[in-house]
Amino acid sequence: MSSTGFRGTVFDIQHFSLHDGPGVRSTIFFKGCPLSCRWCSNPESQDASPQLMFFPHLCVGCGACVAACPSRAVAVKNGSLRIDRAVCDSCGECVPHCLHGARSVSGKALNVQEICEEVRQHWRLFQQSGGGVTLSGGEPLAQPDFLYRLLKELHDEIGLHTCLETSAKAPWDALERILPCLDMLFLDIKHMDSAAHKRGTGAGNGDILDNARRLAGCAVEAVIRVPLMPGFNDDDGNLRAVASFLCDAGLAAVEIMPYHNLGFAKYEALGRTYAFAAKEEPRVSRAVDILTDSGLSVEVHKY
Ligand code: SF4
Ligand code: SF4
Repeated sequence: MSSTGFRGTVFDIQHFSLHDGPGVRSTIFFKGCPLSCRWCSNPESQDASPQLMFFPHLCVGCGACVAACPSRAVAVKNGSLRIDRAVCDSCGECVPHCLHGARSVSGKALNVQEICEEVRQHWRLFQQSGGGVTLSGGEPLAQPDFLYRLLKELHDEIGLHTCLETSAKAPWDALERILPCLDMLFLDIKHMDSAAHKRGTGAGNGDILDNARRLAGCAVEAVIRVPLMPGFNDDDGNLRAVASFLCDAGLAAVEIMPYHNLGFAKYEALGRTYAFAAKEEPRVSRAVDILTDSGLSVEVHKY
């Protein structure tokens, strides 16, 4: 198979992004992630396979999806629509039958050429703004061969500025392989204590910190992102540990990502429960002070 025919699973492509790297950007969202952060604002990104999403507030109860479903996974019970998620295989047959936009399937197989053709349409804007393409997710490194081929095409063949948003929860080899076709990278550090990291994300942080240390010696422009979650990682002890780690590693640029719950409705759409209901605001100004006092260059992310 040619490189441009190589397929991966993507759940969204957004254009005109302003906060995922320099200039105006197109952002490609890969489906699948080795972590399951309790606060994840893109819960549809976590599972590697396509998934049915159902938005009840848009449903008028017409029953068209019930008739269209070949698996009998949808039914009206007590006046409301029920989906049997154990039976639904996310085939998407019901989606075009819903005229009210209450159903969609998140995740689609696309090949490198299809994605490149779409982003090429914005080439002039990338040139004018100093922008390019950002690969996000989910975790792009969870589809390492697809990521490598897509980056090679975007960076080496088309000549675009490329950026990766990553949890770095991946083997170093996969990360090292893509560095020659990467201009910039955002890497999340979610907690310095591995046990706490596991409670919040489902996995420890040892390999993430190892990858961050190794990146410090590489040519790629690296920015460390700290998603700031109230009551989870915004205490002074963790923030000081982050600052100390970054100073020791020689990673100077930090971006704080304040907590928000904008992904709340998507949990309901996936039939899931939102597991991180913060009652307080994150301590953003305290985090800025602690990291800045350590000599780091700190920005607060704009959404
Ligand atoms: S995605 Fe397929 S299986 Fe699931 S409810 Fe729709 S038609 Fe039925
Ligand atoms: S087709 Fe759409 S609006 Fe009609 S019952 Fe199904 S989800 Fe609701």
